[in-house]
Amino acid sequence: MKKSIFILFVLICAGTFLIIDYLKSSQEKSIYEFNKQPLAVVSGTYRAIQDIYEIAAQKDFNSFMQNKVALEILHHFKESNSTEEQNILRGELYRALYKSYDTMKAMKVRQFHIHTCDGKSLLRMHLPYVNGDSLMELRSSIATVNKEHTKVFGFEGGRVYPGFRYVFPIIDGESYLGSVEFSISFDAFEEKLRKLLPENSYQLIMLQSTSYDKIFPSYQGLLVPSFIDSNYYVENPALSMVTAERIHNGSIHAIVQLAKDTKDFKKKMGQHKDFSQTLYDANTSYVISLIAIKDTENKHAGYIVSVGEQDEIMNIVKIYQHYKLLVLGGALLIFILIVIILKQIEKMRQHQKKLQSMNSSLLNAQAAAHFGSIEYDHRENKFYVSDEILNIFGLVDRNFVPSSEFFLSFVHPDDRRAVRRSYLESLHGKSEYSFSYRIIKVSGEVCFVEARGTHELDEQGGILKSFWTVYDVTRQVNAYKSLERFIDLQSSIVILTNGIDFQFANKSFYNFFGFENIETFRKRYTCICQRFIEHKDFFSLRDVKGDEKHWIESLLKLSSRQRIVSMLDSTATPHAFSVAINKYDETEYVVEFTDISERMMEKLQLEKQLNRDQLTDSYNRVYFETNIQNIMKLNKDKGFRTGIIFFDIDHFKEINDNYGHDVGDEVLVALVGLVKEQIRKVDHLIRWGGEEFIILARTESLESMQSMAENLRRKIENHNFKDIPTLTCSFGLALNEEEESIKTTVTRADEKLYEAKKNGRNQVRV
Ligand code: GH3
Ligand code: MG
Ligand code: MG
Repeated sequence: MKKSIFILFVLICAGTFLIIDYLKSSQEKSIYEFNKQPLAVVSGTYRAIQDIYEIAAQKDFNSFMQNKVALEILHHFKESNSTEEQNILRGELYRALYKSYDTMKAMKVRQFHIHTCDGKSLLRMHLPYVNGDSLMELRSSIATVNKEHTKVFGFEGGRVYPGFRYVFPIIDGESYLGSVEFSISFDAFEEKLRKLLPENSYQLIMLQSTSYDKIFPSYQGLLVPSFIDSNYYVENPALSMVTAERIHNGSIHAIVQLAKDTKDFKKKMGQHKDFSQTLYDANTSYVISLIAIKDTENKHAGYIVSVGEQDEIMNIVKIYQHYKLLVLGGALLIFILIVIILKQIEKMRQHQKKLQSMNSSLLNAQAAAHFGSIEYDHRENKFYVSDEILNIFGLVDRNFVPSSEFFLSFVHPDDRRAVRRSYLESLHGKSEYSFSYRIIKVSGEVCFVEARGTHELDEQGGILKSFWTVYDVTRQVNAYKSLERFIDLQSSIVILTNGIDFQFANKSFYNFFGFENIETFRKRYTCICQRFIEHKDFFSLRDVKGDEKHWIESLLKLSSRQRIVSMLDSTATPHAFSVAINKYDETEYVVEFTDISERMMEKLQLEKQLNRDQLTDSYNRVYFETNIQNIMKLNKDKGFRTGIIFFDIDHFKEINDNYGHDVGDEVLVALVGLVKEQIRKVDHLIRWGGEEFIILARTESLESMQSMAENLRRKIENHNFKDIPTLTCSFGLALNEEEESIKTTVTRADEKLYEAKKNGRNQVRV
């Protein structure tokens, strides 16, 4: 991933670089094309001006040749050997030409110079007192004219001013009289250029060898080195009237600086040909055009430099800058986009990988669990079937067209209607469904499956997709069936229950209760526990406490010896069962009821003998000794106290004496019956001995115990005992105090009873 992003980055960088390079070269090309135009204009204009001055010079020469006086003087001069005469003749010539020179000056002729046949200065109209110097060496134009007697034009340096020279041979008839030169300064050219192309500034730069080097040393101050190139000289701006203000124009310096910084500029200057160069700084663009000028021998002499602002170029530059920015921005955007896309793809790939591994895990899990799934897209009318479905149905390959009918065709014909109905019901109710049914595999083998279905709904509640899971439970069902057979063989009653209702019961169950099957039993009962007989010796629903979920939970809290219930069989005969509970799964229990009626009866009998008084069947002192601690604890736990009501029959001896011992016995039995009727189950009647009894009372206070005893006393007093007129008892009461032994309480109650006897009997004493 990182590698691919790096490669991408390099590729985009390379692409961007290529595009920018292309833009750069097209920008240069556009500018180059653009530059051609101003160069052509400036050079064309310059050449035209050159032509104009050539024509003017020709005209000046023509009018010079018309001047017969001047020609006459020149004839004389040629023939004269005397310097004095020559000086006179020079003066005459000056005067003869003075007027024309004035006119010429108006036409921008700067130098009007007549030379002798041997190339010496005869008369400088512009500098009449300097003459006689030989120009042959210095001025090739003059040498050429003298030699060849032809006119020579071109830019040339000189003793005073360099200038654009127009040198003509003076031939009068047969005789050669010397040469005449009209020289135009650059000022004249500049003036015209400014007139025709006013948007530019102009400057003449002259090669040092053709300008500065030739001037009289005293005149060298007229020239100064050029800013552009020190090999070139320009007219001293301080002395030039025309160029001064322009050369001082600040922009020139800036432009020249820009030009010098431009790579090819110097090189191009060295080629001595016309060229243009575009220059620009942050805000302005310029075109600098250099027009090459030739000397009289057609050699390079210098350049006319034209400089002008050129907004168009700036526009081109700006447009290309915008393009570059766009390209850079675009490249960055593309890079970011591609990185995002790559990341997304990577994410998706990982996701897919994860999904694939999840899918394969799911498929493996499905195969291991014999668990298949079917998904139906209602809108696309498409089924997605997991591989395990193929296994469950025994299909060899996927060459089948899945449809509801196709899947239904595997359902056992006996189950088909029910399956269809339950599916349609779940579709209708948009509800989940689960259903167990048989399917017939391709091989014809019958297997049991458990199907669960659910639906995915859209926002309007329409069904988008339906899902089924099909779980092959054949093995479990078979195991269950063999377990069922095994359980059926058991003589004890075995049920599978969650404590509320039950799923399964064995044959012994139905035999015992006399029901044919689970359905008929369920019509009467929801739970076997409803058949538990309420009896103090047996566990029943009465013993299920409020915080307990069901009877199994309550039973589990008891020791296994206490887990005994009693139920009536189909002939209403009670049986006792010991209950064994085993957890089957999270919620289900296997509960086994083993009939222990015979053993139980024996035990009950024995217990009776031990704890109860034979005559009256009330508890005896053995019971008291064995259970008093439990009873007291239970009372305490329930928030009550234990009280002792000690009572004794009054003058019982007399009953025995008067009515016989048997009647006495009967009275005792009747009295116990009467007292038992009056007291609650939580109170225990104990025959303490002879005709003395104790009631272990659960009570809140001595007062409530007192009223209880009083009530009892009255009941006995008013009771009609058989064979005897009346019977009364005396009562002594005591409340067991904290930390007090029950024996002490009994003694205290006995003392109170004694008081009651002493006090006249048939009374309650506290
Ligand atoms: P009082 O308690 O009012 O002072 O007079 P009493 O006559 O009841 O006094 P006492 O305690 O002296 O008499 C108890 C009699 O109860 C003596 C005994 O014969 C009689 N008795 C004890 N046990 C039985 C029994 O099981 N059957 C019969 N018939 N009489 C019994
Ligand atoms: Mg007595
Ligand atoms: Mg007694």
